[in-house]
Amino acid sequence: MIVFCEDCGAKKKLSSSQVKNKKVSFNCHSCNYKNNYKTDFPNQTKTTSFKPNFKRIVETTSIAGLFIFDKINGIIENHMPKLLKKADLSFLGNHLIDSHEEALSIFPDLTQTQWEIGKKYLTIKKLNASQYIILACNIKSLPSNVYKHLNLL
Ligand SMILES: [Zn+2]
Repeated sequence: MIVFCEDCGAKKKLSSSQVKNKKVSFNCHSCNYKNNYKTDFPNQTKTTSFKPNFKRIVETTSIAGLFIFDKINGIIENHMPKLLKKADLSFLGNHLIDSHEEALSIFPDLTQTQWEIGKKYLTIKKLNASQYIILACNIKSLPSNVYKHLNLL
């Protein structure tokens, strides 16, 4: 990381191990000032793995439910209304994946597609080689918190 001398402003490169408890301390090579101050830099680069909060999404008003579908293994996570049978969901999952992949073959830049089925709006996004998340929403536009969540997946 790059730090600056508090006294003369000279630039100095520090390794992350030289930052302890968000404090940097170094002697300036230019004016010899003993720097010892707080920074906002993290002590070390933490890799915060993002954990999707499906329950929170499902509790959002206008979200009817969501499920994760695997092309090979079928339904992995199911937060859909109970009245939907597993077979219905599998059918829906396969159908949506086909439609999604077809759309992607025409518009490769798409990350998610939305399909209107009945009076529900279904958003599908590919998570990895074989898994997809499918969100059922009562309104056309996804609530902003859900949209943000989806973008992090
Ligand atoms: Zn200095």
